Amino acid sequence: MKHNFFCLLVGFLSILSTLSIPAQVAPDPTLLTEINKIKAIDNHAHPLPFLKEGEKDVEFDVPESIPPLAPPVRLRPTNPEYLEAWSFLYGYKYKDTSNAHMRELLALKRRVMNEKGDAYPAWVLDRLGIETMLTNRISLGRGQKTQRFRWVWHTNPLLFPLNNEEAKKSNPQREAGFTTDERWLKDFIAEVGLTKLPDSLDGYLSQLVVPLLERRKRDGAIAVKFYAAYMRSLDFTDVPESDARQVYGKYIKGGVPSGSEYKALQDFLFRRIALECGRIGLAVHIHVGAGAGGYFYNSTANPFLLDSVLNDPNLRKTTFVLIHGGLPFAQATRFLLGKPNVYADFSSQTFLTSTRELSGVIRSWLEFFPEKVLFGTDAYPLTTTVGWEEIGWLTNRSARQALALALTDMMNDGEITRQRASELARMVMRDNAIKLYGLKTR
Ligand SMILES: [Zn+2]
Repeated sequence: MKHNFFCLLVGFLSILSTLSIPAQVAPDPTLLTEINKIKAIDNHAHPLPFLKEGEKDVEFDVPESIPPLAPPVRLRPTNPEYLEAWSFLYGYKYKDTSNAHMRELLALKRRVMNEKGDAYPAWVLDRLGIETMLTNRISLGRGQKTQRFRWVWHTNPLLFPLNNEEAKKSNPQREAGFTTDERWLKDFIAEVGLTKLPDSLDGYLSQLVVPLLERRKRDGAIAVKFYAAYMRSLDFTDVPESDARQVYGKYIKGGVPSGSEYKALQDFLFRRIALECGRIGLAVHIHVGAGAGGYFYNSTANPFLLDSVLNDPNLRKTTFVLIHGGLPFAQATRFLLGKPNVYADFSSQTFLTSTRELSGVIRSWLEFFPEKVLFGTDAYPLTTTVGWEEIGWLTNRSARQALALALTDMMNDGEITRQRASELARMVMRDNAIKLYGLKTR
C-alpha cells in the first residue's frame, strides 16, 4: 500500500513537472489582438484573378500527367479548419463536408464572386487584413492590376532555352514543369516580336532576356521568381560567359546538350538574370526547401546551395528573397540572413507545420536578423472548395498566431520588452517588406 502510494506520488509529481515546462501555451492576448489588426504585406502568394462562371485559370491548369499531390494533414480538404474559413468568408453554416453541402458552398462562393466582380480579389484581401499581396504569375488577371496585388513575374522559363527532353525523362513532374516552361518561353519570344530564339547567347540576352526584364519593371513588377528547385539543383556555379556562349551556340539549332553542358548554361543565365535584376531594381525570389508533389528533390533545394551566388561580389546589388524560408532547412536560412542582400519569408510553413513549430522558426530568425524576416502565406488554389482564399485565411491566421507566440516567449524569457514586441510584429507583418520593395502604402 505504502509502496503504491509512493508510486502515485512520484507519478503525480512527474505530471506536475511536465506541466511546468515553460513553453508558452497561448500568446499574450493583447499582443495577438494588436497583430491581428496589422494590415499585412504578404510576400508570397498565388491568388487567382476574378473568373467568370465556367472560366478556368490557365496558369493553374495542372496537367494530368502530374501524379496527384499527397498533401500533409493541414492541407487536406478534410481539415476542419476549412469549415471556419468557409464560414468566415462566405457564411457557410454547416459543420461537415457532405457532397450536398459542398455544392451549396460552391454556389455561395459563386454568388459572392458574381456580386463583387473585378473587386472580388481585393475583397478577399480586405477580409484577411492583407493590404498588399505579392502575386506570382506569368501575367496578372482581372481584379489584380491594382496596388493591392504586386506582380512577381515567373522568370524561370528563361533558364531553359535548349532541348529539355533529357530532363523531362527523369520523372513526370519534371516533364510537366518543362513542358509548361517551354510554352511560356514561346509566349515570351512572341511578346518581344521574335519568331524564334536568337542564334547566339548575346542575342538571347540582348533581344529577349534584358528587354523582358525591363518591360516587366515598367509594367509594375517588383520581383521575379525562380522555381528552379522543381527542375534542378540550386547549385548555380560561376560559369565563364565564353563557356555558356559555346553551349548555347552549339545546341540552339538542335541536338540534346549533355547534363553538364546544359547546367553550365543555366548556371550562367541564372546569375546574369540576377545581375540584371539588381541593375534595374527587381528583387529575385527563389523557392528554397521542400516543394510540392511526389517527385520533388529535397536534397538539392537546400538554401545553403546558394552560398556561392549569395557570396558573389558582383551580385551584391541584387536583393535575394528566400521563399518559404527553406523548410526543413529553416535554420540554414537563418544563417543566410546575415548577408546584406538576403531576406526570407516563412510562407508555406504556415500551412505545412503547426503554429507552435512555426513560432519556433520565427523566434530563431527574429533572434538573429529581425529586419530580414517577412510574412508570407503562399495562398494558392488547391481544389475547387479549398482555393487561394481558404488557404490564405488558414495561413494568415496561423502566421499571426505563431508570430504572437514567438514574441510572447521572447518577452517571457526577458529577451525583448513589450514595446519591442510591437515593433518586431510590425516589421515582420509589413514594415520590412515596405522598405525592401519601396512600397507606397495606403
Ligand atoms: Zn508559392
